[in-house]
Amino acid sequence: MSEKGRRKAAAVLKRRRARLAFRLPDAEHLLRGSLVKRYKKCGRMGCHCADDIGHGPAYYLSVTLAPGKTRSYYVPPQLKSRVSRYLRNHRKLRELVKEITELNQELLAQGVLDDD
Ligand SMILES: [Zn+2]
Repeated sequence: MSEKGRRKAAAVLKRRRARLAFRLPDAEHLLRGSLVKRYKKCGRMGCHCADDIGHGPAYYLSVTLAPGKTRSYYVPPQLKSRVSRYLRNHRKLRELVKEITELNQELLAQGVLDDD
């Protein structure tokens, strides 16, 4: 590739990188894990829940701390959509970081990695 062609290719990669960086979510609003729904049987005699799926749903954030080890956090109904949004942000951040990292690897391989 000519010097001019190389610069042009690098510019394309850098524009793509800038567009990805622009989409990065707010780094304060992040949660990792998954939102799970639970129903509970209360155990009271004669309660309808004995014959159906139980009371609920109640929502919990389930976070894997280590293989086979998870911790659950109760999510009050009024925080469910916020927790969902924080989880989406985390997924988006991870995906964008991966793509930006790959673009920087490509720029490094082409000898044009710089801060511009
Ligand atoms: Zn019940």
